[in-house]
Amino acid sequence: MKISHRLVSQSKSVSAVLLFGGLVYLIVHWLQSWLLPIWIDLPVLEGLKTTYRGRLIWITFYQIIFDVFLNPYFYLPVIGIFYLELIIPAKKEQKVFSVGMLQDFIWFIADIVFFTIVISPYILWIRFICDQYLGFLKIDALTNLTYPLPLIIAIFASDFLIWLSHLVRHKVKYLWYFHSVHHSQTELNLFTDLRFHTIDTLIAITTAIIPLQLLQIATPTTIYYLFIQKWYLRLYHANIKSNYGFLKYLLVTPQSHRVHHSFEAKHCDKNFGTIFSIWDYLFKTQYKQYNEYPDTGINEPRFPLEKSSKLPSLLKTYWLQFIYPFQSIVGK
Ligand SMILES: [Zn+2]
Ligand SMILES: [Zn+2]
Repeated sequence: MKISHRLVSQSKSVSAVLLFGGLVYLIVHWLQSWLLPIWIDLPVLEGLKTTYRGRLIWITFYQIIFDVFLNPYFYLPVIGIFYLELIIPAKKEQKVFSVGMLQDFIWFIADIVFFTIVISPYILWIRFICDQYLGFLKIDALTNLTYPLPLIIAIFASDFLIWLSHLVRHKVKYLWYFHSVHHSQTELNLFTDLRFHTIDTLIAITTAIIPLQLLQIATPTTIYYLFIQKWYLRLYHANIKSNYGFLKYLLVTPQSHRVHHSFEAKHCDKNFGTIFSIWDYLFKTQYKQYNEYPDTGINEPRFPLEKSSKLPSLLKTYWLQFIYPFQSIVGK
């Protein structure tokens, strides 16, 4: 199929979603002026305030979210990934701006709100718990090593724990309901790394941050790590046909992660890696056919999959997908 045919055919929907995203961003940005003091004054955060000099650290987290993750430059590599999707697509028939991608983008817009209200205080809370109650688990060995050795060790430790938590989120039924939202994508694309249920994100963040805290990795280093991890995830969720050659034995690839997203029985519970594939080789969960690019999705007919690219429909579907795990737990 010609590249020109695979470009935008839904410009109205794309513009509506982008405008909506911009509006949400501006409102949240504006809200922070009065949201911050409210959060900071909550009695439950009393301990945080004294431990982390409150406002200062709090605002640092805000700046990280607004200045790094929501900075336009952070999204420059999008252009490069779009280009790869055009020249070496895994699924040629998939549009670059698919309905699935627009739905993923709605999850991203919702995340702007969740990161502001839930996730940043949650990260602070984990730091507080680690300092107050898990101090005896802290490992001092890394503090004397020269940079970037501590970072490299922390990345491997964190990556292994996320591998383990990923496996658990597949095996434990109630956790799978939340993780299945990520797996529901039938049109894998670079924004599918944003399609995570908030509860699933909270679990993943907990497993990533705790080892970094216990290994006493400084906050800026943690941020670099999250930055690299975010972009790496975006690259291999894209509709790209590549298994990275010999690098596949070390790294998760677009091919191996597509297999992880497959609904076929033979691919079930394979390739749990986030950055490194070594854990899957070590624990025999690696799928060793490197030229298969299967269709993706979940075998759950009740899942409210997106059908229309119109903004009201995307918002309604977001809500249905958000409540789907809770409904599944109570058996509705
Ligand atoms: Zn998974
Ligand atoms: Zn994925």
